[in-house]
Amino acid sequence: MAAERIDGKAIADEIKKEAAAEAAALKAQGIEPCLAVILVGNDSASQVYVNNKKKACEAVGIRSVSYTLDENAEESELLQLVDTLNLDSSVHGILVQLPLPEHMDETKVIVAISPEKDVDCFHPMNVGRLTSGLDGFLPCTPAGVIEILKRTGHDIAGKNCAIIGRSNLVGKPLALLMTRENATVTLCHSKTQNLAEVCRRADILVSAAGKAGLVTGDMVKDGAVVIDVGMNRNAEGKLCGDVVYDEAAEKASAVTPVPGGVGLMTVAMLMKNCIRAAKKVSGM
Ligand code: NAD
Repeated sequence: MAAERIDGKAIADEIKKEAAAEAAALKAQGIEPCLAVILVGNDSASQVYVNNKKKACEAVGIRSVSYTLDENAEESELLQLVDTLNLDSSVHGILVQLPLPEHMDETKVIVAISPEKDVDCFHPMNVGRLTSGLDGFLPCTPAGVIEILKRTGHDIAGKNCAIIGRSNLVGKPLALLMTRENATVTLCHSKTQNLAEVCRRADILVSAAGKAGLVTGDMVKDGAVVIDVGMNRNAEGKLCGDVVYDEAAEKASAVTPVPGGVGLMTVAMLMKNCIRAAKKVSGM
């Protein structure tokens, strides 16, 4: 039987619709949710990401304010801006688009963002809350993976889950969220021995390595759910994931495509976090 092609766009649209209803409820109480987006420099990929976030805000009914600093701006200028936004009670979320130019210290900038406004969930305080199982913001892409599984009716509890990639952005926090959902998690990385064998044991296989063609059909267990977080460019410059879709689809019960899968979920989950931040401020 052909694998289910998971429609990330439909799920992301559903989440944004829910966020829009929450934004409207907040506005009815006199609170206009607001996200501040900071872009440093003129990296074209970052510009696309920032524009997508602003468009999503508009669609959901979240006010977005954006700031663009010059590529050569001093780190102190960025820190000053973050500080001003931290103190601005009309701003509920602050997002600094990464990567930053090399002369800036990303950790220093992330730590400068008020944890209450850290809608990316990058601040060590929020990462600590996540690790300790405390309530708080959820990191957008990993939370998007969990939502995809839940909203397509794929149980997580008790399942063997292999995650390829251990970055702070995706793999590591996803391992925490999957564990929280009672999966048995194996976190794989570039030094993992017998990767294919580990993957073949997985009921849920998530690839977040950033390597086109890494996950081939022989690495997929019959009936597994395959989630492709990778966003790569193939030889023709076309967007593709880490998974060889057609091969995986022959074995799996469900697969997320790229594009049209996890990518759209990240921004949808960001909208959720902005609403959460605004609610917190208003005591809702
Ligand atoms: P990263 O480069 O920081 O981390 C990659 C991880 O994959 C590392 O832990 C590395 O050890 C592991 N890895 C690399 N090659 C491997 C191999 N051959 N075998 C096993 N492990 C290997 O990347 P990242 O920031 O975590 O992003 C990963 C991918 O996810 C990228 O393609 C990125 O564009 C994509 N991404 C997508 C979204 C989204 O919204 N869908 C969000 C963030 C990242």
